Amino acid sequence: MLEKKINASAEVTVLEDGKSENWTVQPSYAAQHCKNFIRDIVDNLNLQPNPEKPVIALSLGDPCVYGNLSPAPEVVQAVADVLVGGRSNGYFPSVGQECARQAVAEYLSVDGAQISPSDVILCSGCSSALEHAITVLACGKKGHNILIPRPGFPIYRTLAEAIGVGVRYYNLLPEQNWEVDLFHLESQIDHNTAALVINNPSNPCGSVWSEAHLRAVMSVARRRRIPVIADEIYERLVFPGESFISVAALEAGVPTLICGGLAKRFLVPGWRLGWIVVHDETSALHDIRSALVRLTQRTIGSCTLIQAALPAILQQTPITFHSNLAKTLQRHAQLAYECLKKAKGLTPYMPQGAMYMVVEVDMSGFPMFSGGLELAGRMMEEESVFCLPGEVRVPLV
Ligand SMILES: *Cc1c(COP(=O)(O)O)cnc(C)c1O
Repeated sequence: MLEKKINASAEVTVLEDGKSENWTVQPSYAAQHCKNFIRDIVDNLNLQPNPEKPVIALSLGDPCVYGNLSPAPEVVQAVADVLVGGRSNGYFPSVGQECARQAVAEYLSVDGAQISPSDVILCSGCSSALEHAITVLACGKKGHNILIPRPGFPIYRTLAEAIGVGVRYYNLLPEQNWEVDLFHLESQIDHNTAALVINNPSNPCGSVWSEAHLRAVMSVARRRRIPVIADEIYERLVFPGESFISVAALEAGVPTLICGGLAKRFLVPGWRLGWIVVHDETSALHDIRSALVRLTQRTIGSCTLIQAALPAILQQTPITFHSNLAKTLQRHAQLAYECLKKAKGLTPYMPQGAMYMVVEVDMSGFPMFSGGLELAGRMMEEESVFCLPGEVRVPLV
């Protein structure tokens, strides 16, 4: 029993034994273990740009920042119509409205992939899809780990460690177009490995895997009986002449949760609309399906305005919008590549898709800097150009 005493300045709670207690509330385990590794390093650098030069932030994965890339007018109109129509202000089913799931299934059922509406679960962005996927496959089983690519998108680690799931890195090979080092991948698998995360096309490599390589990766997963989480947020966002193969088209016999969304290919990351496609040729994911439905009930689904506009967004965006975006990104990548190639000590890797480029720095050509982190810091301070240092992507552990 607590008894309250009022004193002149404040209300103090006094415990039964008479000791007053300063009440500080501790963040939970999950909150304490939630870290954004890029932000941590970048914020710690505390970099000031050169005030004489405008900042060029090459560190952002947001295509909307500079205003030169906008969503298709058809897409904007679709959301405006839904908003004015006033019929999508209530709750939808937590897995998403049927016609929206149907639209996603049709949109993704191309190039050999066959997806049905019941395979689709809508989420608040691809990040939330990834969180559900990692949670449903790995969370709460003591000692479990997931395998994630290096270099790779840092959110996989952020999401996993926040819920007590360990991560193990498998290497990508720059000299082989960032294909997976299959031997290294195998060496990282243990009996606690609950999922393999793959990301094709890749952030940050901009690589697009061949069908043969995708099959090779999936066959490791199949042999070792490890379900796959395929982050396909850059599906079909590949440069002219390149082709994207979804794991949904492979029939690789591996239970897979495919995560995707509108953010990048439709240039609307802030709209927070993503999805999970349960790709289950071997009927191994029966329980996972219902578990995913339960997980979506925690936040009661994704934004209903965007869901209601989804059929129009996915069907009415002109093909030329997508092809122009791919051409523009290729042109930008080519320009950056040609410039960087000429710089002594820099080796840019020309991407085939997505919106990123990795540049290798031969530090022997930059003896005045102690490492990539210092180089990135000095680029910001002298030229106001901000790149993410490799230490962010490739932890030295
Ligand atoms: C941008 C990005 C995401 C996140 O997408 P949202 O829909 O904005 O949550 C997921 N994976 C990768 C690899 C990304 O680059």
